[in-house]
Order: sequence, then structure tokens, then C-alpha cells
Amino acid sequence: MDNKILLLNLLCALFLACTHGSLENQDKLYIEMLDVGQGLSFLIKSKDCNSLYDTGTPNSGLDTMLQNRDIKTLCSVVLSHRHNDHTGGIATLAKMAKNGEIRIKRVIYASDSAEEPFITLLNEAGIETQEISRGDTLADFLPWTTRILFPVKNSSLTENAASIAMRLSDSQNSFLFMGDLEAPQEKSILELEPLLSATALQTGHHGSKTSSSWDFLAQIQPKMAFISAGKNNSYGHPHPETLAKLRLILQDSTQIFRTDTDGSVELEWVYRVGMWSR
Ligand SMILES: [Zn+2]
Repeated sequence: MDNKILLLNLLCALFLACTHGSLENQDKLYIEMLDVGQGLSFLIKSKDCNSLYDTGTPNSGLDTMLQNRDIKTLCSVVLSHRHNDHTGGIATLAKMAKNGEIRIKRVIYASDSAEEPFITLLNEAGIETQEISRGDTLADFLPWTTRILFPVKNSSLTENAASIAMRLSDSQNSFLFMGDLEAPQEKSILELEPLLSATALQTGHHGSKTSSSWDFLAQIQPKMAFISAGKNNSYGHPHPETLAKLRLILQDSTQIFRTDTDGSVELEWVYRVGMWSR
């Protein structure tokens, strides 16, 4: 976060503290990038609802992480696309649900995952599944707005290119999830949303150089970047070129967060006030 934004956030916080009591009374959202190694999983917690955006690989310890955080209900689990480093935790979640360790209200996926065995597995465990596409909204984090930006309905895209892009926002700040989307889909999203921006960006495809194009970053203008990648992974994620671009765009390299060097990282977001890493 640059100094101007920090100052503005502090002034807003001071104003609210003086006029409405402490920030304790404000709506808060917590978005935690979980350290699942070479995969992706974010835990989103609001006062009414806990959700996951992706579930990491099969043995990333998702069950222990959820238990350590006392998560007993998930309103929704969003599966960005069908690759195992994003949906690998589904078997663990289905088992936890069967054992009564967790209650999962629904799992949301894009058309690319529709025929996958994990959808059958979820249905057998009694968990509702639902396909979503661009234009859909989620009411899980009200008063925050949650919009699905990509892919479009009945898209023929597959694998990384079929990832669900999801944007959470209030009137001041926003968080953009990109799954493993790459440069051609970033271009498609900007064609659909020419004015798109995001305060915080989950950098697409683990910081690969095939994602985070200049055009996309220049339009989005993120102030914080979240990269999930395994320590010393064989793909070379995140790519030095992507990191160099992010340093230039963000102008503050302390706002680039990486699971391979930082472990799990949590963002606190006070409604219409500001967002901070903790
Ligand atoms: Zn991936």
C-alpha cells in the first residue's frame, strides 16, 4: 500500500473511530492465502460465512488448516478450474463432510469442470454443486459485492483458460481472483470490462510469465499482489519477469506476498475503510 492510501485509510479509520465508536463495530472480511505449496487456496471469512476459493493439492494439509482455524461450515467452495493443484483438496473436504467435521453448503465451478469425477464425489457426499459463469453474483459476503467476471456462459475454453475470475468489492477497495488465467484471457476480460481495477490481485497462474501482462497490470493498477507458489518449485514460479513488473506497478515490493517465502498471508478488510495485510 503506498503512503497516500495508508494515510487515507488511517484518516478514515480515525474518523469512524471518533464518530461511530471503534472499528470493532465495522463489518470485516478476512482473506487468507493459505500456504498449500505448489497450488492455490484462499480462505475468505466474513461474519456470516466462510468460503474457499480453490482447495490446493491432495496432500496440502487443508483439513488441518481448516481445523486450526476452527472452520466448521463453508458457505461455498469456488473451484477456479479442474486442475489438481486447485481441486486436489476436494476429496479431503468430501471426507470431512461425510465424517461430520465440516458442513459445506455448495461447491461452485465453471463449465470445464462439469464432467469431472470430483463433481460426482461431491454429489455422493450430499453436497450441492452449481455451475456459474460471467454475470453471476454471490451473496455470501454481503455487504461486499461479489461478481463473477469470467468465463462467459457456455464457454468452450478449458483448463487454465477456463478459470473463474471473481471480484469482491466495496465502494473503496477490491480483491480480484484470477485462478490460472493467462494473458489471452486477461485481454478478453479487459474487453468485457475496460474500466476494471483491483486494489489487491491474486496474480494469475502462480506468477507465471504467461500471465500478468503489462496491459492487464497497467489497467488493473493493483496496490497488493498475492502469489501462491511452492518453495523451489520445478516450474520456476513466480517468474522473475512477473515479479519485476509487479515491483514497477506496485511501487512497493513489500506489498508482494508469496506463500513460498511468506507462508500463509492474511488480509484484513474493513468495509469502506481499507485493507491491510496482517
Ligand atoms: Zn495452478
